[in-house]
Amino acid sequence: MEQTNTTEKNTTIEKKLRSIYSLELHELKEWLGENGEKPFRAEQIYDWLYKKRITSFEDMSNLSKGLREKLELHFQITTLNTIIQQTSADGTIKFLFELQDGYSIETVLMRHDYGNSICVTTQVGCRIGCTFCASTLGGLKRHLEAGEIVAQVVKVQQALDVTDERVDSVVIMGIGEPFDNYENMLAFLKIINHDKALNIGARHITVSTSGIVPKIYQFADENTQINFAISLHAPNTELRSRLMPINKAYKLDDLMKAVRYYIDKTGRRISFEYGLFGNVNDSIEHAEELAELLKGLKCHVNLIPVNYVPERDYVRTPKDKIFAFEKTLKKRGINVTIRREQGHDIDAACGQLRAKERKEETR
Ligand code: SAH
Repeated sequence: MEQTNTTEKNTTIEKKLRSIYSLELHELKEWLGENGEKPFRAEQIYDWLYKKRITSFEDMSNLSKGLREKLELHFQITTLNTIIQQTSADGTIKFLFELQDGYSIETVLMRHDYGNSICVTTQVGCRIGCTFCASTLGGLKRHLEAGEIVAQVVKVQQALDVTDERVDSVVIMGIGEPFDNYENMLAFLKIINHDKALNIGARHITVSTSGIVPKIYQFADENTQINFAISLHAPNTELRSRLMPINKAYKLDDLMKAVRYYIDKTGRRISFEYGLFGNVNDSIEHAEELAELLKGLKCHVNLIPVNYVPERDYVRTPKDKIFAFEKTLKKRGINVTIRREQGHDIDAACGQLRAKERKEETR
């Protein structure tokens, strides 16, 4: 493992302006119109931000000085300061970034045969309270603005520019509950997907939720082609409530109704994440019960061997038991894979690095 600690801290704390990365193209056009400028300038600005990836309004040389000054006055081009950058033996890179107000977030770059994938954060902390998760330690500090989520992709893309590589896919599986910051998450999706911006195809984007049921209906109605995952982790409501307190507000039955609505409405397959927690939810009986729950659904199950979190006392399921669980599901006709683990030597599970490095934020 390689670790670089850097101190690219801003010396002056500027006033908090809206991030220009938060604006969808049509919003930027509207803003320009309202401010006495030609709407087509929006495309030029997008080009500077997302194709040339510059970080200062001053460098937008085909815009008038007046417009550059106006932009400067109203927006910032969010820059994320790298506090820590860890590179794993398998090439996974984990970034701990500092936001303008001093809070920290994590972003992970994973290298797959099919390209570069990044995992982004949507909130500083999380209020869902899953009993196994490091992101929720210390609760929710604040939502990220859409532009602060976009900035994570831009920042990693800038790092990849050096070797002429690109961010091929994005998973919203970092710190936070994306459906608890719904509007900003949706704006983020639209911006990175836009061909004038980062042009990341909807089928190369995955969003995951712990199960905020009303938002699942809303998301189904958006009719996007984005991949959708649900953190399930238990085959029955009692066990799920013990692992994930959200299940007390939105019971498994209601969650499954929403899942069926999503599949009917979009025609798309859903992924279920199922973390295997030693002696908690990993027996053959649990696998049978899970197969029963998912019978006939257009879905896929992703088995995640638990990531050890020092503050939590779950233990890993032994390999042979993981394979037996997988085999049971397969026998019952359920599509299943075991998640390949990456970055195991660099605290790459959600919220782990932040919890370790920023103890004051996660208490
Ligand atoms: N809040 C969203 C996005 C996070 S995605 C959600 O809950 O879906 C990250 C995935 O990793 C979720 O499925 C989460 O439940 C799971 N996870 C969190 N901590 C884990 C741990 N210690 N071991 C295994 N999986 C974990």
